[in-house]
Amino acid sequence: MLIWGWTVLYKVLATGSFHCPQCGCDRSYRSVRARRWFTFFFIPVILLQTLGDYVQCDTCGSYFDEIVLTVPTREQLHQWLPQAVRVMLVTVVRDAAVADPAAREEAATAIADAGLPGYNRRHLDVDLATLPGDVASMFGEWVEYLGLEGREYLLTTAATIVTRDGHFSEQRRRLIDYMGAVLRMSPMHVVGVLRMAGSGVRHPNPDVR
Ligand SMILES: [Zn+2]
Repeated sequence: MLIWGWTVLYKVLATGSFHCPQCGCDRSYRSVRARRWFTFFFIPVILLQTLGDYVQCDTCGSYFDEIVLTVPTREQLHQWLPQAVRVMLVTVVRDAAVADPAAREEAATAIADAGLPGYNRRHLDVDLATLPGDVASMFGEWVEYLGLEGREYLLTTAATIVTRDGHFSEQRRRLIDYMGAVLRMSPMHVVGVLRMAGSGVRHPNPDVR
């Protein structure tokens, strides 16, 4: 009879939700530390080696490197999107000093449509006075999860807001170029979107992939 040997045991470090690459959707996970133990009569008595930390999907059982937790869940993306649209369009109205009522209405409607139902001109007025405007950090790497059509829609909306009163100054042009860069669109792409904004062509509302 073999009275000694070794076994691998998993210690649970944390639990939560993540995007499981195997299942292709949001799942619950446990974060585990794999450790090899020396066993005596099947009882682990000496820790031999820590093999590493892994993330295990509770549904399919697959193990992943911890880097998988840096991918946002669909739920996180759906929470983020309306707030990102809000920060961008409030910043556009504020930095371009847009006073045109129709343009401000357009900004409020686009923010509501992005996932904040009930958002209106009054909310916009409050945001213009209080909302921080760090657009670049609000979008960050997550902008990649916004489809191309969604990014075009956002920039088209921003361009329409700043051109509606007929004063498309150099400063406003730089603002749109900056928003295009935040949305990771090339300068040529921004030019194309500005043309579409001028001709009234619109894209569907943004959604996360
Ligand atoms: Zn899974």
